[in-house]
Amino acid sequence: MNTTFGVDRYAVFGHPIGHSKSPRIHTLFAQQTGQTIDYRAQDVMPESFNMDVESFFASGGKGLNCTVPLKELAFNLALQKSERALHAGAVNTLMIDATGHLWGDNTDGAGLICDLTINLQLDLSDKRLLILGAGGASRGIIQPLLEQNLANLVIANRTVEKAHALAKQFSGSGALATCSFDALAGQQFDLIINATSASLSDELPPLSGCPLAADGGCYDLAYGTQPTAFVRWGRENGASFSKDGLGMLVEQAALAFYLWRGVRPDTRPVIGLLESERK
Ligand code: NDP
Repeated sequence: MNTTFGVDRYAVFGHPIGHSKSPRIHTLFAQQTGQTIDYRAQDVMPESFNMDVESFFASGGKGLNCTVPLKELAFNLALQKSERALHAGAVNTLMIDATGHLWGDNTDGAGLICDLTINLQLDLSDKRLLILGAGGASRGIIQPLLEQNLANLVIANRTVEKAHALAKQFSGSGALATCSFDALAGQQFDLIINATSASLSDELPPLSGCPLAADGGCYDLAYGTQPTAFVRWGRENGASFSKDGLGMLVEQAALAFYLWRGVRPDTRPVIGLLESERK
């Protein structure tokens, strides 16, 4: 990797990584807050992840983001972890702490909460929430959602056993239930969050009926240049709003930027700019 002498270096590691918006987002944050940083995307395979992280920090790198498929590996590698990383079982932000150890955090769940409660101005208390999917992204958002005093939270997954296993890890943290997609027929939710990867192939999770309450909203963690299949489904089924995960992406990046730089960027102009570019 080329370096710019004297400038603090950051990177996002992932595979594939060509599509990543993180370098753009962090560069916009740096410009906005008067910081000078060098943030790049690096294609890193799981097999070389540990070595690549080590050499990045050994050569003076200041902070890393990790994305698919490296978040669990980052979790295993970090010696110290934040509580939210421990809940998520995954790490998306790495840095060296004051004691010289590799420290890992997970800003995804908090990024989602910022987008829902600040940008979309939703009050989640006493709301009935449905999460579709029981993979890594679901695991990262369950605890922060349960902390919003929901009426209840249901996880539905194609492979229902995975939903049961996931819920077990959060037993005692709040009103949490699991079911199959078929069992959603007749149920009603104020907010449906799509945390499946179906949108990546422009597919819709196999929903039974329409489990969306009147005035209910839809949120897809996935994002793209066009509305995802789930965002379109929400619009077609009368959702009060139907958004994709671009806001969450920018918010999780802002939380990482704050951890590294001690400065909070204003996310709204960055979200606005990225949204205007895909219209
Ligand atoms: P995983 O591979 O860990 O999990 C995938 C999940 O999707 C599983 O529950 C799987 O079900 C389900 N699934 C896949 N295809 C289908 C389908 N056709 N119908 C129904 N269910 C399906 O992925 P992640 O949890 O890591 O990622 C999920 C999504 O979240 C991705 O779109 C990712 O881009 C997005 N994301 C967005 C972020 C943001 O900042 N906006 C941050 C992190 C993730 P099964 O168990 O049955 O296989």
